[in-house]
Amino acid sequence: MSRYSLDEGIVLKTVDFGEIDRIVTLFTRKKGKVQAIAKGARKMGNRFGASLDFFSFSEFLLYATRGMPLIVQGKIKKTFRDLVRIPLRWMAGEYVLLLVDRLFPFERPEEKILEEILFLWETFLRCGGSIQPLLLRFRLDVARVLGVFPELLECVLCHRELHSACASFSISLGGIVCDTCATKAQELSFLSWQELQLLRNLVDVPLGRVVQSRVNSQVFQSLDMLLSRYLSYHGEGRVPSFTSFAGCEFSW
Ligand SMILES: [Zn+2]
Repeated sequence: MSRYSLDEGIVLKTVDFGEIDRIVTLFTRKKGKVQAIAKGARKMGNRFGASLDFFSFSEFLLYATRGMPLIVQGKIKKTFRDLVRIPLRWMAGEYVLLLVDRLFPFERPEEKILEEILFLWETFLRCGGSIQPLLLRFRLDVARVLGVFPELLECVLCHRELHSACASFSISLGGIVCDTCATKAQELSFLSWQELQLLRNLVDVPLGRVVQSRVNSQVFQSLDMLLSRYLSYHGEGRVPSFTSFAGCEFSW
């Protein structure tokens, strides 16, 4: 079997290694999250060009070794570097990388998530609509592929469907809790009817139409926090909310 393989994907993270090399964390179509060494990647005019830059979607030629694979070549297929002109959207683009890097285990291919990231970057770049609903939806989709999608329709304890009331949300139980059961559960987060409805709608709407959803800032911040805490609890590692990642309060 050849030690060479072709794969395509994006860069999640890079760290300097030795004098001139880099260890690159990739998220690829066939392998999911993998670490690989790019020899000579810090030399001027190296053979990787911009294929190892953030916001590049590239094809990589990898060479298997006993340790980490080597990245032999990288060829850009598409770049989203122009996001640099729109700082908030650049940060949103980086935020989805951080979520994947921290929440997914290594070597678990998730092609749908890779496609969704490319779709988000494209939308952040070309579409004037709000990015907030997409940032919420992405985290729901991540929860789904991680197998921890929250229960949003019925109480996780008594299985009664909730139709028109505020609910509580239990991160550890994985979903909404009705008023009656709320007395029996611990560490509940309040979820207004408006917030619950928004989450339900975001799940049902085709991805291409999510950008048209309306989310007010207060609802966004509350769900932003809740979903980050939820994924931190159920994923591989902890993640901040987008609001704290971006580091300040934006006027949306
Ligand atoms: Zn209940």
